[in-house]
Amino acid sequence: MKSKKPKTKSKLNKDKWNELSKQMREMHPSCELCGATKNLQVHHVFCTKYYAKSILRYHPSNLLVCCPTCHFKSHKSFIQIMVDEIKGV
Ligand SMILES: [Zn+2]
Ligand SMILES: [Zn+2]
Repeated sequence: MKSKKPKTKSKLNKDKWNELSKQMREMHPSCELCGATKNLQVHHVFCTKYYAKSILRYHPSNLLVCCPTCHFKSHKSFIQIMVDEIKGV
């Protein structure tokens, strides 16, 4: 289905991302860093800000399933705070 709705630029494709993050959480039902199983989120290992047009954006090897705590720590460790399209289900 094609839609002519204007796309928000430099944003992840919501549908694609939602589907991918769902798949990622199915593949990794627990935090890859500490093993927590609640409120899992999907983090981009490499900041999407710098890879806006890159395949890395949706590449599983650039994605990490983690809990909010580890997610926060991951971002802290990159210094650069980035905003992912996160859906903690
Ligand atoms: Zn964790
Ligand atoms: Zn993140």
